[in-house]
Amino acid sequence: MRLILLGPPGAGKGTQAQRIVEKYGIPQLSTGDMLRAAVAAKTEVGLKAEALMRDGKLVPDSVVNAIISERLDADDCKGGFILDGFPRTLIQADATEAMMKEKGIDLSAVISIEVDDKILADRVSGRYTCANCGAGYHDVNLKPKVEGVCDRCGSTHFKRRPDDTRETVVTRLSAYYRETSPLIGYYYAKGKLKTVDGMADIDKVSAEVDRILAGL
Ligand code: ADP
Ligand code: AMP
Repeated sequence: MRLILLGPPGAGKGTQAQRIVEKYGIPQLSTGDMLRAAVAAKTEVGLKAEALMRDGKLVPDSVVNAIISERLDADDCKGGFILDGFPRTLIQADATEAMMKEKGIDLSAVISIEVDDKILADRVSGRYTCANCGAGYHDVNLKPKVEGVCDRCGSTHFKRRPDDTRETVVTRLSAYYRETSPLIGYYYAKGKLKTVDGMADIDKVSAEVDRILAGL
């Protein structure tokens, strides 16, 4: 299964990707996570990306295209993968098509998670993750079962992203509408687009995603 998860920041792409990883055993390829790792490691890519990410602006296509093309060659992608947060522009979508063709693989589906803009600031500003295993949580919508303890790994260390502020949501949403939302039409025209109601609670969205995946 080779999937793309599409949606504005805070739609629930990472949350659903983590659940698909657990159920189907295919890796989640999040360009955001890869770029954050590059920033933390102070690599050349990280130095290029840091200020753009902090301000909620997109990193250049050439940078993310190269990261993904290399990542798709890894052994753990042989049985499928979930692209989360990539592609984000038409140039990246064309590059994805070219790289998949070159690697002799097909896209199974693009799942677009639809949400109202007005809830995105609450979703993003309440988001945090386990610093040890990366499990995702939310201050109101998805708390650990035991307060302050990660459900998945038991760690008591959590972190928040520097760009997850109400201020950057505006810039990030503009980037989404300008650059990413045209991909909905792009994949619809290719017969690959599936949509889910991202306003429903997390389990309901997962059930809808499962229904789509079962039909592929
Ligand atoms: P994205 O990867 O699309 O930016 P996330 O999956 O990280 O978004 O979700 C953003 C925040 O919203 C997280 O804190 C997550 O726990 C929460 N969340 C995700 N899906 C839902 C949902 N369907 N209903 C309520 N909260 C959600
Ligand atoms: P995300 O974790 O998907 O919310 O991405 C966080 C930030 O990383 C974005 O606001 C961008 O600055 C950058 N980024 C992640 N993926 C891409 C991409 N495919 N193209 C350009 N920039 C990206």
